[in-house]
Amino acid sequence: MSQKSSQDRFPNASRNLPSDPCSAPTHLVIVGNGMAGHRLLSALLKHPERPERITVLGEESSAAYNRILLSSWLADEIERDALDLPLENIATAGVTWRLGERVVTIDRQRRRIHTDRGEPVDYDRLVLATGSRPALPDVPGIRLGNVGGFRDLVDTTWLTSRPAGSRAVVLGGGLLGLEAAEGLRKRGLAVTVLQRSERLMNRQLDETAASWLRSELEGRGLAIETHARLAACEGDADGNVTTVRLEDGRRLPAACVVVATGITPHTALARQSGLNVARGIVVDATLTTSDPAIHALGECCEFEGRTYGLVDPIWRQVEVLAARLCSQPTGGYRESPCATRLKVANISIYAFGPVETPPGHETLVYADPENGDYRRLLLHDNRLVGAVLYGDTTAGPGYFHHAREEHDLSACREVLLFGADDATRLLAESATRKLEEAA
Ligand SMILES: Cc1cc2nc3c(=O)[nH]c(=O)nc-3n(C[C@H](O)[C@H](O)[C@H](O)COP(=O)(O)OP(=O)(O)OC[C@H]3O[C@@H](n4cnc5c(N)ncnc54)[C@H](O)[C@@H]3O)c2cc1C
Repeated sequence: MSQKSSQDRFPNASRNLPSDPCSAPTHLVIVGNGMAGHRLLSALLKHPERPERITVLGEESSAAYNRILLSSWLADEIERDALDLPLENIATAGVTWRLGERVVTIDRQRRRIHTDRGEPVDYDRLVLATGSRPALPDVPGIRLGNVGGFRDLVDTTWLTSRPAGSRAVVLGGGLLGLEAAEGLRKRGLAVTVLQRSERLMNRQLDETAASWLRSELEGRGLAIETHARLAACEGDADGNVTTVRLEDGRRLPAACVVVATGITPHTALARQSGLNVARGIVVDATLTTSDPAIHALGECCEFEGRTYGLVDPIWRQVEVLAARLCSQPTGGYRESPCATRLKVANISIYAFGPVETPPGHETLVYADPENGDYRRLLLHDNRLVGAVLYGDTTAGPGYFHHAREEHDLSACREVLLFGADDATRLLAESATRKLEEAA
């Protein structure tokens, strides 16, 4: 991330632009009809002070859909229709959708965007909600046929058409990789997961939970290789992948390779138009870029050095930006912790906070291998800062609440591992006692 001052990063902040960026725009253009763009549109349409005209441009030709549910669709747990994100009971007068159209340049002087087809569009306020794309490892053969990401409807349609009985290799043993691997396994493919680090979901799970997860998945028939580094994808004369080669020299047959090793924010458009871009499009707490007439949110943006990969923070960004675009006061966007869940049938995982134990922190652990129940709570100064739950995860949101509210849990430590509800009750009783003593 660049070390420039905020004045450098937002050079237009004091420039006098043709229309006051703090007033509601008359023509708002949203680039990207994904989860963030659609949610922003829905929020704006419910607002009486909404912009007069809104144009949504989306590179994908389909109407907005729930990207999160692609995993369930791949696993054949839901029908395609269940992905649709309708704008139920919301009047859409004044909204134009131009789908299947990619925005290729922004002319900031004229406030006009150009697309790969169709007329240019003038805006008086622009929102970039261009999301991200799979980060491809820089190895030979990564562009071969049947090597691809797991990001959108096109990728998932490709994956659902892989023949049962064929071999698939999934690169990445994180959330997305495991959801892809399980989906393909359920469709009858022989799947190997390659994970660079020593354990699955190493950013969310500690050693115990990761080893339980591994045993469960291997029991279902997934092959899992940890410490596995991809050296190359090798193909046939038609340019389709046939084999992956690892750095240790091993070769694994692969009729398809799914890359789930991270994401890269879509920033080309912003970069080309001279906006301040680091890893993502740099925004301030009002989701405004270095040009006051242009906002960014979702996976394409970067705030205080952070980029995004889960919807929770993005929904909070939507609230802030929708208020701003409707000239409503807003407290601004602030970072806040996020919890993670894995969407694989019959495996419940809930995790937040650091996985390692930093100095000065303590852990409380409950493990019942017989029933497949594991809980590890990370505390600092009697406050919950992290949790890993495997098996029974019903207490997860309650723990997350205690962590978010920074509750002092000293009065309920002895029951904390057995559920957040008991802990909450004891906390309330302790508070009442203190009040009675004081009275
Ligand atoms: C399979 C899968 C499962 C997931 N599961 C979870 C989960 O369980 N929980 C969770 O919190 N998150 C999950 N995520 C992540 C979540 O889907 C993303 O965080 C969210 O979609 C980000 O929203 P976005 O609008 O920023 O990006 P996107 O939803 O990717 O939307 C960006 C849109 O912009 C379009 N676009 C890009 N460039 C242009 C251009 N130049 N012109 C026009 N259009 C453009 C893209 O085509 C895309 O349609 C999952 C993601 C995937 C892929």
